[in-house]
Amino acid sequence: MDLRTFIRDVPDFPKPGIIFKDITPLLRSSRALDETVQRLAEPFRSERVTSVAAIESRGFIFGSCVARALGAGFIPIRKPGKLPWTKRRNEYVLEYGTDALEIHDDALTSDDRVLIIDDVLATGGTAAAASALVRDFGATLIGAAVVIELTFLDGRKKLNGTFVHSLIQY
Ligand code: AMP
Repeated sequence: MDLRTFIRDVPDFPKPGIIFKDITPLLRSSRALDETVQRLAEPFRSERVTSVAAIESRGFIFGSCVARALGAGFIPIRKPGKLPWTKRRNEYVLEYGTDALEIHDDALTSDDRVLIIDDVLATGGTAAAASALVRDFGATLIGAAVVIELTFLDGRKKLNGTFVHSLIQY
């Protein structure tokens, strides 16, 4: 199945010059959604992943499905102010200004083997911030899996050698 045919390009969203990769046509197809989840999980089946950590909000959609596929738990990584419990924060630099991600203080331990999931890898800033949060617990970061990789932005470089699995490349 060519998953690329289920991605819709939306020019100038959310601002001029950005081509937004809309995954909703993929989500509404039961076959494409199942294929996506199986393919995201595929390289990690024998890695004894204990936790899938996914990034708000579209990462959650795939992350919980992949957690089920791998028999792992699910850890939400969220924008500031959304998580209710004691948390850790990582701030990262955007094109203009900074952003931050948070994770609960009891989300992981050094025994955990973690897979990070998101929908799109663009500049890599978001995934790199999520990796730093995971590593801060002393947990083992097995890799990162994304549905779409915008290769021209070289986001992999920011992940310093972390194994990155992407299903569709542009
Ligand atoms: P980055 O930190 O630059 O790698 O951006 C990744 C995050 O921004 C992901 O969580 C994506 O959901 C979102 N994102 C970045 N660029 C796009 C795009 N062109 N289309 C859809 N989502 C995007």
